[in-house]
Amino acid sequence: MVAITRKHRTVEVDRSMRSSGITLAPGMNICQSDLPLDWYQDELKPYAEEYLALPDRTPETVLPWMDRYVLPALRHFGDRVQLLAHYYMGGEIVKLVERYGGRIADSYELAKQAKNNPDKKIFVESAVHFMAETIALLKHDDQEVWITNPKSGCTMEALAKEDMVLPLYDELVERYGEQLMVVCYMNTSGRLKALAGRTGGAVCTSSNAGVIMRWAKSQQKKILFVPDEHLGRNSGKKVGIAAERMFLWPGGWDGAKQSVAALSAGEQRRLDDAELILWGSFCGVHMVFTPAQVAFWKDRGYRVVVHPECRMEVVDVADGAGSTNYLWQAVLDAKAGDKLAIGTEGHFVRNARALAAARGVEVQNLADVPASAGGPGSLGCGCATMSRNDPPHLVGIMDLLRQGKAPELNRVLPGDVVDEASGARERLDGASRAEIAADARKALQRMIELTEAAR
Ligand code: SF4
Repeated sequence: MVAITRKHRTVEVDRSMRSSGITLAPGMNICQSDLPLDWYQDELKPYAEEYLALPDRTPETVLPWMDRYVLPALRHFGDRVQLLAHYYMGGEIVKLVERYGGRIADSYELAKQAKNNPDKKIFVESAVHFMAETIALLKHDDQEVWITNPKSGCTMEALAKEDMVLPLYDELVERYGEQLMVVCYMNTSGRLKALAGRTGGAVCTSSNAGVIMRWAKSQQKKILFVPDEHLGRNSGKKVGIAAERMFLWPGGWDGAKQSVAALSAGEQRRLDDAELILWGSFCGVHMVFTPAQVAFWKDRGYRVVVHPECRMEVVDVADGAGSTNYLWQAVLDAKAGDKLAIGTEGHFVRNARALAAARGVEVQNLADVPASAGGPGSLGCGCATMSRNDPPHLVGIMDLLRQGKAPELNRVLPGDVVDEASGARERLDGASRAEIAADARKALQRMIELTEAAR
């Protein structure tokens, strides 16, 4: 617990893992969309077949089926196992993971779970791969990390794979030497986090991006921020980096193909003058939000809060911007009768709406401007890749772990690179893995130290 002084009062804020506050109600639809059978690994197909054959998706039907597999696994492992999920997971997985004693959090809190809980030996994560890999980077040697679906990736991270970023990194190191510092958003592979560690940089999450960027600026180095252009720009602006001292580099394979040498002389000068180089990746989920949507809800008395992965024009006109924890807290702090429009991942907003409704608070998805008001109807969307973790994946991994037959594809080790389309995993040899892990840990450790010191 930490004490925080707000305008009129001092409040205690518990920043540890906490319940989502969402409950499973009888008769409600556990409405995770079904994945086609050929989306499942062979080992998981028998569980998927049983799930797909269930007559409906209500808790009365789904839970007894899940209990048959999950409860024996929980009894088998006892206190050694810990289930985890991210706030952005479809509400049903959040609820199911919590029902089986699991924990829900943002990526900063998830990252520390193995490190801070040495008594737990097996972590089963229902979220995206970079989150599971970060837990693995910080884990103790006798702990294991498993992901329920290895195809659950992040599209932002997919536009900043190591092979895409390395050509620019190499050129920048050659040009600026030790002046270069990499700052990585959590949404990166361990291999990119290692670049941050190697250059004396740090990792950040949306909850501490301001703290990390302020520190990075104070180091008076040239910052390469990967992968999210928007979080980088919003955080840079917040700590006083002028727009003309930011240089945008294309994301994805376009970024890999472009070279500094091929830039015009004027562009090279701008790069040399830049304090912050932004890798041009983005989150499609957060790109749908617009200033016009903010104006629509504000005009109707709503307080608008958004995630800093939104464009700067949206963040600038919103009433507040912050991490998933910040947005969740905004819902928890709202009083009966308050109205909130939230600009972030759709499952999160749906979960927030369910929680808020029970307390007399109205929550809207910022993108849900009705067609009758000149809007496109509903554009707010959930993170499709994160939603690839569904009940059959959770059930199957738990049952296979109990049997000692969990597929190696679902084990997460530092330095692994996953192909989100096939789920195939490229694994480093032991020596390379140890090197990557050591460098990435430096950057993660720096983030933790700076974040805890700022609290
Ligand atoms: S919501 Fe966006 S940034 Fe977050 S995991 Fe999904 S694609 Fe990545």
